[in-house]
Amino acid sequence: MLKVHLGVVSWYNSDMVYLDYAATSPLLPEVIKAMHEAEENFFANASALHTPGHLAMNEIEKTRELLAEIINADPKDIIFTSGASESNNTVIRTFEGHKIITSPLEHHSIIEAAGAYGGDEKPALYSYMLANNEIGEILPIKKYAAKAHKAGGYIHSDLTQVLGKIPIDVQELDLDYATFSAHKIGGPIGVGALYARKGVPFKPLIIGGNQEHKRRGGTYNTVGIVGFGAALEQISTRKTWEIFNTRVRALRDELAERILAEIPGSSLNTDLARDKSLPNILNASFQAAEGESIQLYLDADGIIVSTGSACASGDAKPSHVLMAKTGDAEVAHSSIRFSFGTDSSHDDIDKVMEVLPSIIKRLQQISTVEMEAK
Ligand code: PMP
Repeated sequence: MLKVHLGVVSWYNSDMVYLDYAATSPLLPEVIKAMHEAEENFFANASALHTPGHLAMNEIEKTRELLAEIINADPKDIIFTSGASESNNTVIRTFEGHKIITSPLEHHSIIEAAGAYGGDEKPALYSYMLANNEIGEILPIKKYAAKAHKAGGYIHSDLTQVLGKIPIDVQELDLDYATFSAHKIGGPIGVGALYARKGVPFKPLIIGGNQEHKRRGGTYNTVGIVGFGAALEQISTRKTWEIFNTRVRALRDELAERILAEIPGSSLNTDLARDKSLPNILNASFQAAEGESIQLYLDADGIIVSTGSACASGDAKPSHVLMAKTGDAEVAHSSIRFSFGTDSSHDDIDKVMEVLPSIIKRLQQISTVEMEAK
């Protein structure tokens, strides 16, 4: 169970069951500590030539080296950004006017950027995520990399949801570009990275500064990058992918089994088979119950989940991912995503299953009454 370690979060007690890690993950205590220290010690402009500037830059380089080590890249090929959306936009914009081939499962920051910038010129950019954020589906990225290179194009992969969940080796995957975000791994929101292999086309999205060897302008977000580093440190020392693949996978699968067994009209949108999905995401649909209503009722009981992608919430359209997978608006509208972190516990599952069956039953009854009244 998530322990709320900041006193400022007063609207829930520590019994809150947080199962929305794929939307964002709470800051790890180590991250909070590192960021506080950085606020005090590394406030200087990291591009400055004076000593405090060098000290700040030194911290930034530590994060760069750590990320490079975790993904098996050359640190020089890593560029810090404001997050995955910016990293994705940078790659797509680099290929402005070129053919951009993506999957329908991509995040909006790929799909919409590809729509805005794509054209017919060659070489083409292939952009395929290794794992999807809404249903956790794993895509055969090596196959796409081979296809892209065979066609004389380039391959980008949005690895936002993958970092820390599955070991990543950009050489082995043969990627030209890859996207990362700190806030999905217990780091701060507003920091991310882009891996761009030496020699690949690159057009900076933000110009007007020499930072990141002219690949991304703007004063360094030292504190954020230090926080990212502290979260990466946890990934590497705890080998979090092993925890996800064993304990977290077991929790996820147990919740799936109990939902199917205890809730009439439920179905899974996530394929639980190993290598088919990330171990920490479970997307389920509940016939005749609307996703947003389920979410709100769960929220009232202190259980935090999401309906598909939080980035698209407030959007009346059903999730593009579920529509692409199922073609069924009813299924898409009645879906809930449960996403787990390494803090998740058995107790969390029990708490969900204490209330979810009756919530669904109530919503299904209202929906039947409504349908009969029509
Ligand atoms: N790509 C994927 C797969 C994501 O899950 C997200 C976050 N929902 C993003 C990109 C955007 O990340 P950020 O918030 O860092 O811009």
